[in-house]
Amino acid sequence: MKRKIVQYLLSLFVFFATGSVLTALYISNTTVELSRLIRLHEIENLRQHLVISLQTVQTDLYTLGTPLSNSLDSIVSNVNGLERSAHNCLSCHHNQDVAGDLGKLQVMIRDYKEDLSQYITASANMGRIDTLKLHAAQTGNVILMSTETMSRKASETLRQNTISAMEKVKRAKTVLYVTVGLSFLLGLAVAARLTVFITRPVNELVKGARAIALGDVGYTVPYTDKTEFGELVGVFNRMSVELENGYTKLHDEIIERKKIEEALRQSEERYVLASRGANDGLWDWNLRQGRIYLSSRWKAMLGYQESELGDEPKDWFERVHADDREHLEAKVAAHIEGNSSHLECEYRIRHRDGTYRWMLSRGLAVRDITGTAYRMAGSQTDITERKVAEEQLIHDAFHDALTGLPNRALFMDRLHHRFRQMMNSRQRGAGFLFAILFIDLDRFKVINDSLGHVAGDHLLVAVSQRLSQGVRPGDTVARLGGDEFAVILEEVTDREHAEQITGRIQKEMPKPFYIDGNEVFTTASIGIALSSGNYRKPEEMIRDADIAMYQAKSKGKAHHAVFEEGMYTTTVERMHLETDLRRAVEHGEFILHYQPIMELTNDSLVGFEALVRWNHPKKGLVYPMEFIPVAEETGLIFPLGEWILRSACNQLREWQREYPRTPSLKMSVNISSRQFLQPDLTEMIAQVLRANQLEAGSLTIEITESMIMEDIDSAIESLNQLRSMGIHIHIDDFGTGYSSLSYIHRFPVHALKIDRSFVEKMHSDEDNLQIVKAIVMLAHNLKLELIAEGLETAVQLDQLKELNCHYGQGFFLSRPMDTSAIEAYLKRNLGRDAS
Ligand code: C2E
Ligand code: MG
Ligand code: MG
Repeated sequence: MKRKIVQYLLSLFVFFATGSVLTALYISNTTVELSRLIRLHEIENLRQHLVISLQTVQTDLYTLGTPLSNSLDSIVSNVNGLERSAHNCLSCHHNQDVAGDLGKLQVMIRDYKEDLSQYITASANMGRIDTLKLHAAQTGNVILMSTETMSRKASETLRQNTISAMEKVKRAKTVLYVTVGLSFLLGLAVAARLTVFITRPVNELVKGARAIALGDVGYTVPYTDKTEFGELVGVFNRMSVELENGYTKLHDEIIERKKIEEALRQSEERYVLASRGANDGLWDWNLRQGRIYLSSRWKAMLGYQESELGDEPKDWFERVHADDREHLEAKVAAHIEGNSSHLECEYRIRHRDGTYRWMLSRGLAVRDITGTAYRMAGSQTDITERKVAEEQLIHDAFHDALTGLPNRALFMDRLHHRFRQMMNSRQRGAGFLFAILFIDLDRFKVINDSLGHVAGDHLLVAVSQRLSQGVRPGDTVARLGGDEFAVILEEVTDREHAEQITGRIQKEMPKPFYIDGNEVFTTASIGIALSSGNYRKPEEMIRDADIAMYQAKSKGKAHHAVFEEGMYTTTVERMHLETDLRRAVEHGEFILHYQPIMELTNDSLVGFEALVRWNHPKKGLVYPMEFIPVAEETGLIFPLGEWILRSACNQLREWQREYPRTPSLKMSVNISSRQFLQPDLTEMIAQVLRANQLEAGSLTIEITESMIMEDIDSAIESLNQLRSMGIHIHIDDFGTGYSSLSYIHRFPVHALKIDRSFVEKMHSDEDNLQIVKAIVMLAHNLKLELIAEGLETAVQLDQLKELNCHYGQGFFLSRPMDTSAIEAYLKRNLGRDAS
């Protein structure tokens, strides 16, 4: 800007100076002219003086000797004056023409002067004087005339010079006026330009400053130039942008801060609400002063009023359960020392009523710049209910819900523990033996099925109590599931000792249990495994105790067995049996035998019971008791059962065709419990009947009491379905189960098959006879038919006939036979029927 101003002023000055110089030049020029004019006027004056002097001299000359005349002296002095004037005049003329004229004039004046001097001196001679006078007068006239000519010329020159001088003066004036005028205009232009240069940015800056003042931070002035104003605007704009950035940052920070404040407020509000809602107590511990603020809720949680507890840490810690205090203090210390991110500790604390409550304390320390905690605050939540629930859960996870005994998991845990103990003490060459008892209740399934699940459960509870009473307090009695129990006898001296304890249990077991008003009896089969066996894992002990139990079971009820190596083979055999059975089902290694069922009164054949046999490739004929349970367990009973039903029906159809009688031959087929529960059993039977075009009335299915008792309602429903189809239903092995008499009338069955065990001892055991009699009466009352099973002797036959039992089946009448033997039998007995 400075440069610009200097530039403008300099150009104004140069312009003005140029105008002034020009004016000065014109003026100085005019001055020369004027001085010449003055000179010319002076000359004119001299010339006039000369003319006057000359005319004076001439006049004097003519008047000489007249009264008017002057003396000769005045003429001489005038002539001298004339000469001087001529001389002066000559000296001031530069013009050559004029100078030349003046030179001539001087010569003439000098002649004139001479003439005059001669005239003057020639005074004695009058004639001569007159001549001289005349000559002088003539010369004077010539001079006068020349002078006049000269005067005319001089006037002309003077006039022209004056005009020229006036012209120059005029021009100088014009230049001066133009210079002044233009300088003024230029000055105005410079002023205007400078004004524009200064005011525009200033205005813009003012506008910008106003905008910013009104809040438009970041406003930028739209002006650029290379002057200081440009720089100022640049700085102003940068400042405005910076201001905007700063403002935005500040604004953002304020918003962020507000958000944080809001979040904090909400968080605090939430915390207050949460702690109120959660019923938490609050505490705030000034670590420097050793004072602690305990909220009234905190105190109320322990049953205290606000004023009843002090504000010292001991008011808290002294009430903490002795077993938990150290743990809590350690956690608090760890957090204060910065070794944990926060305090979180569960502990028991004494309530005013003397009980202990479980509390969860959470807290956080506040630290100074050195990291030293000076304050710690937090909450206390009553978690008693949760803890109790947790303890319950833990208890439940490790205990049997029904009996409250340790379950399999806990049993295994204790066994592992005891096993490790044994291994350690064995290394030290010391330690006692321990033993495992694997206990299975005999016939529990039957009891359960016949008395129902609830009674079964009650029996299990009673058994578990009896078992627990039979062992020492340190021993573990566990329920592994179902009717299986296991015991760890922590210390036994030897095999006999273990057997002695087992014997004691077994002696207690048969004593009656009173379940729901009934006397229920059970026994237990117990397998024993001793830790002296060369075991590497506790699981091996369990496995062996289990094997020993099976061994005991195979000996009959209420036995026990100590595991021996050989027993393992039996188990392996069972595994082989399973594999073989699978293969047998696939390859169809089964055949059916048929045992005739006779009407006792007239000794006639009414039908057959189909009995399955396994034609084992190596072992030969295997009987159903050996494989049906395995087939049940493995599910192979489904394909096998269906095959039996199809084959039996098919066979019956053939025999019915061969021996058409009225009433026609019937076929009884045994249905196992798992089969009975099969949802599509009815459908399958119907399909088999259709496939063989067999009347439903020709088919009898045999089920046991326990199968119905398992789920009476659904069993009755299934039986009703079968019955409505026309199928006959017989209850097999009747008398061995626990079916309550109150239920039997609801069973939609056609006949009861008296179990072989009663028939067998009928004549030797009065009780059995009474049972058979009772069954016969029951059947008669319920209008059910009766079939006696296991009829082996003529005595039995007679007794049964006497008891009015209609039907019988047994070796005495006929053994079960294969197809061809039956066919021969049929020929023999029904030959006359054959078409
Ligand atoms: P169960 O249904 O009570 O069949 C009668 C059993 O008693 C047959 O034994 C038969 O041979 C035997 N028996 C018949 N009369 C006498 C006798 O006078 N004295 C003696 N001691 N026994 C006699 P088996 O064939 O060994 O069958 C045993 C059990 O296996 C059957 O008892 C039945 O519960 C089951 N069973 C047999 N076949 C099948 C079948 O095809 N399917 C199903 N699920 N189970 C079957
Ligand atoms: Mg049967
Ligand atoms: Mg039977």
